[in-house]
Amino acid sequence: MTAIGDERLMLPVSRNDLLPKGKRDRTLFIIMLIMVPVVFVFDVFCVLPEVSNLIPVHVLGAIFVLFNIAANMLQLMWSQPSARELSPGVLPSVLMPNWFYCHECHLNVPPRSYHCRVCDACILKQDHHCMFAGKCVAFGNQRYFVVGVFYILVGTIYSLTMHFDYTVTHHLGGYRWKLILVQLAPHLGWLFGAFDMYGFLAASLNLLEICVMLFCATLLYSQIACVLNNQTMYERKHEVKKFKHPTLEENLQEVFGEHYILVWLWPLMESKPRGDGINFVDYERLENRKSL
Ligand SMILES: [Zn+2]
Ligand SMILES: [Zn+2]
Repeated sequence: MTAIGDERLMLPVSRNDLLPKGKRDRTLFIIMLIMVPVVFVFDVFCVLPEVSNLIPVHVLGAIFVLFNIAANMLQLMWSQPSARELSPGVLPSVLMPNWFYCHECHLNVPPRSYHCRVCDACILKQDHHCMFAGKCVAFGNQRYFVVGVFYILVGTIYSLTMHFDYTVTHHLGGYRWKLILVQLAPHLGWLFGAFDMYGFLAASLNLLEICVMLFCATLLYSQIACVLNNQTMYERKHEVKKFKHPTLEENLQEVFGEHYILVWLWPLMESKPRGDGINFVDYERLENRKSL
């Protein structure tokens, strides 16, 4: 099981941490667990034979995308980004400058950490709590989240392109602007008899995928902006850029690790992130000291 950052600093992952804890997180996780395989099976067995002759190529591509989504999501779920999981003695017993004491964890925690109410722990360089994985996206596991969202987006665009063609040609009788409008409101199409029950379900799936695509594209855009500026979502909102490394490579390495290109192809690739999630260079302060 993958530990965060330097494995010598971390305790093993407990069994209780393997699945999402809260009711909302569990519900969203189960929805995702059902929907992703359903879409995969529907695409491979119903849509592909109707829209393409290159079925083996499409199936291999779909398996690669599905594997990247599943493996990155599981790695994110099984990661342990909380300060509480650090080995005893890693966190100091006296409060250091810019650190704070968490009254719930009873620990001195480093800058950029945040106490997550759902995880009930202080999270190192906390970005946000991911409700689908039931885990905070933070130092050491953000790579899995970003790459996972990227592949969900790729899979959704890929699947939507095929579905749309399939729905319009097989259930709507061709590309006409009125029918495309009905596709965007499937219940109206069904009510007014534009397509049958099966067409309604296919069109509803398309609409769901359009929503997922827009959501993932927005999320990916904001995550890439955070990675390039070495920011958490909170820091991005408040325009804090003092932790941004001087080079693009250093910023990429802090999230994706030393193999920051290969992690996009192989989710199981060991790639140790730059830093330890505890100590961060404040470049603004460094610059001010130099100019004095
Ligand atoms: Zn805490
Ligand atoms: Zn959390």
